[in-house]
Amino acid sequence: MKSWTSRPVPPLPGAAAAPRVFDTSTGEPEELAARDGRAGLYVCGITPYDATHMGHAATYVTFDLLQRVWRDAGFAVDYVQNVTDVDDPLLERANATGVDWRELAESQTELFRTDMAALNVLPPDHYVGATEAVEWIVPAVERLVERGLAYRVPAGTGQDGEPAPAGDVYFDVGAAGRLRTEDPDAWVVGGTCRLEGDRDGMLPLFTDHGGDPDRTGKRNPLDPLLWRVERPGEPAWDGASLGAGRPGWHIECSVIALRHLPQPFTVQGGGSDLAFPHHDMGAGHSYALSGTPMAEHFVHTAMVGLDGEKMSKSKGNLVLVSTLRRAGVDPAAIRLAILSNHYRTDWFWTEDLLEQSQRRLATWREAAAKPETAGADAMLEAVRAALAEDLNAPAALIAVDAWAARNLGGAATRGTAASAQDTELARSTVEALLGIVL
Ligand SMILES: [Zn+2]
Repeated sequence: MKSWTSRPVPPLPGAAAAPRVFDTSTGEPEELAARDGRAGLYVCGITPYDATHMGHAATYVTFDLLQRVWRDAGFAVDYVQNVTDVDDPLLERANATGVDWRELAESQTELFRTDMAALNVLPPDHYVGATEAVEWIVPAVERLVERGLAYRVPAGTGQDGEPAPAGDVYFDVGAAGRLRTEDPDAWVVGGTCRLEGDRDGMLPLFTDHGGDPDRTGKRNPLDPLLWRVERPGEPAWDGASLGAGRPGWHIECSVIALRHLPQPFTVQGGGSDLAFPHHDMGAGHSYALSGTPMAEHFVHTAMVGLDGEKMSKSKGNLVLVSTLRRAGVDPAAIRLAILSNHYRTDWFWTEDLLEQSQRRLATWREAAAKPETAGADAMLEAVRAALAEDLNAPAALIAVDAWAARNLGGAATRGTAASAQDTELARSTVEALLGIVL
């Protein structure tokens, strides 16, 4: 599907090093280096049944930062993102509101694109809807069944005790994990998020994030759905030997990533609520299909709340980017508010935070409006150093604050010649690395 457009990234002198970023699979910061000059990034996209809330925005801004740092290091970046444009929550919302699910998905995807462009998030090279990928997913699931890594369940009862027809296809996590006897790099359930062997840790996460441990006929409660055969009133696609139906959630991302990125690609990313089961199961499907690990690193962003509470649809306290934009808030101030929190620390959106960010933006712009400034080289170096260490955006912002204070404070140019080139370099640094246009 169509992506969005963003401003071109201004060039900067010199080049940064590859960043070190915390990897969920090792529990340590790891160098996220390119292979043959290219870095591959897959970030899980939205389920388009509600507008972009601050948690989504923070995730996509974080991976945008990574992409900008990679580009600054001279890497070419291949970036893929999906849209889960058919899924249970989308269909439930469409039913509840009497809107056709396709129209709901299209309108919310469009709103997301507009929000991302406003936040100056660089677009993915491939933006792929689940509905566009069904034709690739079907043969992939068929292959898994043929290899004994997936199986059909008989008619029984589903997660909520409702009758479930025969033919739903599940991934066999036990069978897939046994591939490790032949290859030490093979996937094993929980391995991408350090939950390997921790069944008690995995089960509640599986249940809370779309899993159905109690579906009758499954070999292991953790086995995830690959193909859901058609139910009355639900959309369905031709599933060839699988029968008509629609894909499970994790297989969508595996198949889209396999199609558009080399395996292993550099980073699989998303919100921390996706680490298990979504990313872990996706990695399992990918290994089972390709015989190669899916990604070298797994990177996750923390959760965003509102005024000290968890932000959730059920609480009705979502802060939406589009609502703020409609109220006249400068998207650059929203982006700055996001960047003032480290991506791995849970944080809260507050009115105060927005006001502070608006003041900060105004100060930076005031400094950048001076025809001649000084200290841009040192600022570039400090911003690069901050982002190279686990995308430390708050520290990068403080470096820009220092530059602005110096140039607005009168003592600015004492001992250093101010120049128009310095002002230009300062603007380019803030835009290229932080995505903020001054
Ligand atoms: Zn995904």
